[in-house]
Amino acid sequence: MSQGFRLGAFTIRRLQGGVFEVDGGSMFGVVPKALWEQKCAATPDNHVLLANSPMLLHTGQSNVLIETGLGNKLTPKQKGIFRVRAEWELVAGLARLGLCREAISHVILTHGDFDHAGGVTMLGDSGGLELTFPAAMHYMQRQEWEDVLAPNIRSADAYWPENFAGLVEGKNLHLVDGEEEIMPGVRVERTGGHTRGHQAVWLESGGQIALHLGDLLPMPCNSNPLWITAYDNFPLDSVAAKERFLAQAGAKDAWLLFYHDPKILACKLDGDGAVREPFCAQ
Ligand SMILES: [Zn+2]
Repeated sequence: MSQGFRLGAFTIRRLQGGVFEVDGGSMFGVVPKALWEQKCAATPDNHVLLANSPMLLHTGQSNVLIETGLGNKLTPKQKGIFRVRAEWELVAGLARLGLCREAISHVILTHGDFDHAGGVTMLGDSGGLELTFPAAMHYMQRQEWEDVLAPNIRSADAYWPENFAGLVEGKNLHLVDGEEEIMPGVRVERTGGHTRGHQAVWLESGGQIALHLGDLLPMPCNSNPLWITAYDNFPLDSVAAKERFLAQAGAKDAWLLFYHDPKILACKLDGDGAVREPFCAQ
């Protein structure tokens, strides 16, 4: 078994949340392909390969999951539409680490889009819908939850009710108002931008700091604050939040964690966006 990415006393491992392809332009908004293609390989028909990488954070006391991947509920038609290239193997991956579903105590969602929250519920052995991590408290921003419950005509495409079935506030769902320390060294902070209630995750242990920016920074090639995705519902908020959070990360010499990059789990970024010290293994 790999050693995982060490952050002080914390260990972070990347799990298989499914791999899919999306239109390349949608990952870079108004940036022309002639520019983004220099930093991100495209398929012949202009798609880019995206991993979905739930991260298992072992703090020493708790097993925390950041994001949950695509899940196992996609229909064959949906798999074709989203060009799924690798299946969701979150539960199997945890089993290989010696962890059952009940061993996960905390699930943190940066936001409610299906590629991040799709694994909150799963089709069990009997074929019924069940919570994937029945013993876990799930953490989302209150703003995000309110939007999940009452999506607008655009966000309804990505907020799927079946991904949240069984979550009950106070029982297994904890709603955060802005900023909160979930446990020592694990803190969430609302960013807005991509979605109104999108949040970032700060990790700190042994003097080392890491920042998970969710879909505000899907891959290192999105490091330019203006290279935001076309999916961002509040683009100017995304730009401002990226500038602010990346400045904080730079000042703290923090690691950045990437949910969608096919290779890089963590790295540091120079001021010009150059990747430093990439960590690519599981
Ligand atoms: Zn995403």
